[in-house]
Amino acid sequence: MNSTAQEIRAVFEQYDHMMLTAHVSPDGDAIGSILGLYGWLAGQGKKVIAVIDDDIDDKFLFLPHADQICHPDAVHVDPSWLTVVLDATDLGRIGRVAGLIPGKVLNIDHHISNAHFADWEYVLPSYAATGEILTALFQEWQAHIDPAMADSLYMAIATDCGFFKFSNTTGHTLRMAAQLVDAGARPNIISEHLEAQPLVKLRALSEVLRHIELFGDNTVAGLAFSPELLKYTGEHTGTYIDYIRTIQGVDVAFTVKYVREAETRVSLRSKTVDVNAIAGVFGGGGHVRAAGCTIARPLQDAKNMVVKEILKAL
Ligand code: AMP
Ligand code: MN
Ligand code: MN
Repeated sequence: MNSTAQEIRAVFEQYDHMMLTAHVSPDGDAIGSILGLYGWLAGQGKKVIAVIDDDIDDKFLFLPHADQICHPDAVHVDPSWLTVVLDATDLGRIGRVAGLIPGKVLNIDHHISNAHFADWEYVLPSYAATGEILTALFQEWQAHIDPAMADSLYMAIATDCGFFKFSNTTGHTLRMAAQLVDAGARPNIISEHLEAQPLVKLRALSEVLRHIELFGDNTVAGLAFSPELLKYTGEHTGTYIDYIRTIQGVDVAFTVKYVREAETRVSLRSKTVDVNAIAGVFGGGGHVRAAGCTIARPLQDAKNMVVKEILKAL
């Protein structure tokens, strides 16, 4: 059950040492939420470590403190440390950081599939981003948001709602974003950094688009990232799903990505279908219109399993 905003503030006041983390394959919300909270806690004189069990896409490195997010091997903590899990539904989503947790855990998240695992939680599935929750908390606490925090939190919100285009965008989302702009966030600079891509990445797009597959009377679009295709794209393939979800008539878009021989990473997006439920069939989750899972099967098998579930749901 959720604590109140004031109880959450009291938890932050109670601890001097905090380890902040977020889900593996970190997206803009995971990184932006960590950095926004990091900025505020550091400003309060707290000792803060940010850790993610994954590499961070270069495009996020323009944000202040982004270079300080470390890997689990570099972290040494003891039970006096609070662990803050951001933008993640359960400990399975934070990889090897789960093995470092020395004491109490606070979870701030917005996924409908949240497992309610923490000692204190603040889970609001109607919010578009964890960054939106943090901004509302700072507002409620009358905490000062400096321009660096504002950039990070704006980036968190904007990336999770497709820059205010997805169905999770509400009046509240826009009000929180507006407040961040008033506090110094720079929408144009953030967009420029996130959109900028090396020429090889743009060239890879033409190769990726040749691999689009359609199913279910062209209402389902899929992309399979085989090891061969990953040679063109590199590991960070998260944005390609946004191209195929725009195909006219497509309701569900999905990608399957080779991780290793019997491990496939799946992403799902939809206009009407509940993809959280589809991901849930395979032990994953997320949101009604954006979800993911990992299937312990080879790429082709996993693809067939996902397509079958999507066609059932249509
Ligand atoms: P992705 O396709 O990886 O961008 O994920 C879409 C949404 O679903 C994001 O909000 C993720 O945090 C969430 N998500 C992805 N995989 C999982 C999982 N295995 N369990 C719970 N949520 C997930
Ligand atoms: Mn996320
Ligand atoms: Mn999120």
